[in-house]
Amino acid sequence: MTTDAIIAETTDAPENARDIWSAALGRLQERVTRPIYETWLKETVGVRRSDSEFIVGAPNAFVAEMLEQRMYSLISQTLEALLEREVEVGFAVASSLEGGIEVDGARYQPIGESSENPPDDSLSEMPSAAALPRPVLNAKYTFDRFIVGKSNELAHAASLAAAREPGALYNPLVMYSSVGMGKTHLMHAIGHRIIERGMSVIYSTTEEFTNAYIRAIREGATDDFRARYRSADALLLDDVQFLIGKEQTQEGFFHTFNALHMANRQIVLTSDRPVSALSLLEDRIQSRLAGGLVVDIQPPDIETRIAILRAKADASAVSAPDEALHFIAERVHRNIRELEGSLNRVLAFADLTGAPVTVELVKRTISDMVETAADRQIAESEVIDAVASHFGVSAEAVKGRKRDKKTAQARQVAMYLLREECELGLVAIGRALGGKDHTTVRHGCERISNQMNADPHLRREIINIRAQLAEAP
Ligand code: ADP
Ligand code: MG
Repeated sequence: MTTDAIIAETTDAPENARDIWSAALGRLQERVTRPIYETWLKETVGVRRSDSEFIVGAPNAFVAEMLEQRMYSLISQTLEALLEREVEVGFAVASSLEGGIEVDGARYQPIGESSENPPDDSLSEMPSAAALPRPVLNAKYTFDRFIVGKSNELAHAASLAAAREPGALYNPLVMYSSVGMGKTHLMHAIGHRIIERGMSVIYSTTEEFTNAYIRAIREGATDDFRARYRSADALLLDDVQFLIGKEQTQEGFFHTFNALHMANRQIVLTSDRPVSALSLLEDRIQSRLAGGLVVDIQPPDIETRIAILRAKADASAVSAPDEALHFIAERVHRNIRELEGSLNRVLAFADLTGAPVTVELVKRTISDMVETAADRQIAESEVIDAVASHFGVSAEAVKGRKRDKKTAQARQVAMYLLREECELGLVAIGRALGGKDHTTVRHGCERISNQMNADPHLRREIINIRAQLAEAP
């Protein structure tokens, strides 16, 4: 299905498709979070319908692709409920939809075009971008070296889009995950790309940003500070959770953010917690963040872990057989930094001693790392309690027989997390949950893992629970 085909073919009752889609959007709005709605659905239109097909138009290819990949079943269920029949849903780019960027309900013109409400600090005061020093980016953190798997594909695609068209698509782009999942890597990769294209980038950790701001205040040089940060084509600020509780710096950040945002400069932020959990940031900052694109990175699955190890091993001088890499990937699973650390240790040991890399050697060199990983094993009761409190039911209910929707979903999420976080088998999970049959457990786990792809709200909820589990002492 090409764009041309869609735009040419407007004969069969377009109003009808448009009205149906408006109704569908009304229903979808109730089923997804506001940021999800604003990011993915708000700018879509109903383009065409036939007896068996419904085409949804998206403002660009990235949104079309993400709707198809992430929200297909939710959308098709909604349309089928409305139309009372089965339909094949297709997604297409409707290029005429493109426009300025919308912030808090107001449309801002790109820089250079007239705007009735110029921001408080005039953009014309922005110094030339060429004056900026090159940021210090890790040369190894490039897109080429980033392994894409299910857990990080959304963050990867969004990063590519931000690097391809800085400021145009997803602004700000916010990436979040627990530590060691590749946020900084992707952020540097975006930086490299943008610089390659001759544009200026500021990369700063939030701690550096805070220190610079405090110094500027002390030296009475906040104007310089602002000018410097606002002159970039892209601002990459790593670990914004460090802004929590720092009100003065938040103020500086907010004004910098606004000036760049209104000038359509790309802003990329990372955080080790979801935007909704950054509750100590001022409301106005929170709502600005949620107005962009917020993507998560989940813990990598076994295939991705093996692929990462394979790529890193191939880049080294020592050869490592698959069994050895599998052995590591199966044991080190929560954090890519630890995964890398384990492999580096094995490779260094092999290199120093001249011994070949074998499973035996791996066992010897990383045994202490594996043990520390095992020490941090999350208890069954922790998972059940966390899920229960998240869904607002009691742990007894999760383990019990009640079948109302909320309790049943909490129970299935508990099954899924007991499998993922505690690595229990189906029978053991059934036992932990008050004696459920293993086929019920299998069904529950499968259901949640399918639903997570279709339902961003559930996906986010599960990430929050996992983050909470990871943070618990
Ligand atoms: P975070 O910022 O989320 O804490 P980092 O970006 O610092 O994580 O990543 C930790 C380490 O893992 C880095 O060395 C990074 O290169 C590596 N890494 C993370 N994700 C990937 C990936 N998908 N492919 C290859 N290396 C990765
Ligand atoms: Mg980082």
